[in-house]
Amino acid sequence: MRLVFLGPPGAGKGTQAKLLSKEQGIPHLSTGDVLREAMSKGTPTGLRAKEFVDKGYLVPDEVVDALVRERLQAARDRFLLDGYPRNRSQADELDRMLAQLKTSLSAVIYIHVADETLVKRVSGRRSCSKCGQVYHLEAKPPKRADVCDACGNKGLVQRPDDRAEVVRERLTVYHKNTAPLVERYKSKGLLRWIDGDRPIDAVARDVSAAAKGTGGAPGAKA
Ligand code: AMP
Repeated sequence: MRLVFLGPPGAGKGTQAKLLSKEQGIPHLSTGDVLREAMSKGTPTGLRAKEFVDKGYLVPDEVVDALVRERLQAARDRFLLDGYPRNRSQADELDRMLAQLKTSLSAVIYIHVADETLVKRVSGRRSCSKCGQVYHLEAKPPKRADVCDACGNKGLVQRPDDRAEVVRERLTVYHKNTAPLVERYKSKGLLRWIDGDRPIDAVARDVSAAAKGTGGAPGAKA
């Protein structure tokens, strides 16, 4: 299974990729997670990325391309890419990396959610400051307020780039740069369209079927 998860910020790519990664035992590679870890450690990559991430802009291609290249070489034939590629140049670069590894994508899982829903969703998102587990104040609250179900840490935080004004910028960036990739992968016959505006487990069933090649509409309503 060699998959790309495509969709706007807040569509549930990370949540669904984590579930599928667990179900199938396949590495989940999220460029957003890798960048956030680098930022929290204050590495040179993290410091460079922060000025872009905090404003909702894309981090320069050469930074994320290098992160993905390194990790794909290790993962080779089994990976779930989440948050990459995010523009045409990254998609070209991914094609080159896969060609060098003598492999190709098995499918692109496109999770569609309408813009109106996304701002509301993302601004209610919280994550554990220790283990990164993601919650939503309404749709997926922790069992005890402000305590992580997964690791017991007290302190769920909002990502700085999940504030409403930054989310709107991220959506603008998505429509300009990333949404055109839907057509690109559709024309290659790789796209699997999933309605992401449903409960997490219903979406997960469709994602799992699409990943195995038994579900997901090939069409696209970008
Ligand atoms: P995400 O967690 O996927 O929503 O990513 C959070 C932020 O990390 C994005 O808003 C970008 O600033 C940055 N980022 C993640 N992936 C990429 C990428 N492929 N290209 C450029 N910037 C990225």
